[in-house]
Amino acid sequence: MAGRLVSETLTKLSQMGDVTLHEPAGDSPQAERIRRTRKQEFNFSDCIASLQTPRGPKPVLKTMMTTACERNCHYCVFRAGRAKTKRVTFSPDEMAGAFDTLQSAGKVDGLFLSSGIIKGSVTTQDKIIDTADIIRNKQRYRGYIHLKIMPGIEYDQLYRSMQLADRISVNLEAPTSERLHKLAPKKVFVEELVQMLQWAQQIRADNRHQKLASSVTQFVVGAVGDTDLELLSMSDKLYSQAKLARVYYSAFSPAPGTPFEGLPPTEAIREFRLYQSSFLLRDYRWDVEELPFLQSGNLRTDVDPKQAWADEHLLHQPIEIMQAEREQLLRIPGVGPVGADAIMRARRRGRLSELIHLKQIGIRAPRKVANYVLLDGKRPARQLKLF
Ligand code: SF4
Repeated sequence: MAGRLVSETLTKLSQMGDVTLHEPAGDSPQAERIRRTRKQEFNFSDCIASLQTPRGPKPVLKTMMTTACERNCHYCVFRAGRAKTKRVTFSPDEMAGAFDTLQSAGKVDGLFLSSGIIKGSVTTQDKIIDTADIIRNKQRYRGYIHLKIMPGIEYDQLYRSMQLADRISVNLEAPTSERLHKLAPKKVFVEELVQMLQWAQQIRADNRHQKLASSVTQFVVGAVGDTDLELLSMSDKLYSQAKLARVYYSAFSPAPGTPFEGLPPTEAIREFRLYQSSFLLRDYRWDVEELPFLQSGNLRTDVDPKQAWADEHLLHQPIEIMQAEREQLLRIPGVGPVGADAIMRARRRGRLSELIHLKQIGIRAPRKVANYVLLDGKRPARQLKLF
């Protein structure tokens, strides 16, 4: 009997297909994107994604409590009334049981749990919390759990979700209230979404002794005229004020049977440039005003934003490698945090006066670096044949 129930539950899970197709869940969203766009057909294994999580690479069960939804986000395949969507709903016991079966069999080691909204956000979040509670406290699972936060839930529900999960996501979808209204008319930007991220940071600040989930968000890029300046300005605020671990950018892709089915898709390269810029804000501490935006408010797609900035600022005013502060070194295309630290260590031991010295300390692209630096007061000679 129990075996039959498990089998029915897993069959149900497989009917959902790749339900979180449009939502990256790991720390390598671009790799995830490439994998998912290569797939043509779905089967049960599509619910299991190999993700780079904060706990390392894991096979993660990526699924939803229900594929039914009472909201009508214009880009979403689960929106209310879309005829093509198969609606499948799990109870918390069923979902926790499915996870336990797969985890015990060694098929998954991690859960990414989202949901459509039925009977309001509070009721839906309760089901997500109940599922995670069973997995953590009855099944005693200590591995990776990522929970989606429904828009406009109660403070205590957010707190409980953060106690149960390693990571929570509150997807803003758009960088401003006006843009969100065009994407998702029933979502309320500040009260339902931004406030969740602010509360999450408050909860972490008030409970420093507790292990609580980190926060991430996602934007749908390019469907409603949103600019890179808008997206990155909001990302910058989220990194500095709400201490987000990560911002995801998802290039818009029109889904048949939705109001946006006739809109053009957003180019993948735009998503890639947004990730590069986002890392400059989060990891390199750039100010958003320093990013090389065009008049349109977008970034060039034909060049890395760090290189575009350096072409404008460093070609005629190169950085002296022997004297620059770490922050200046990080401005040089081809020098990341590891490279900047290597340069600082190496120059304490002696002079860096040739490109080959940079190669020897692990700078992978010294030819790229050469355009923007002085080595011991001189433009580097390009002795490429030595490499
Ligand atoms: S609330 Fe979520 S599941 Fe529902 S239509 Fe909007 S994006 Fe889709």
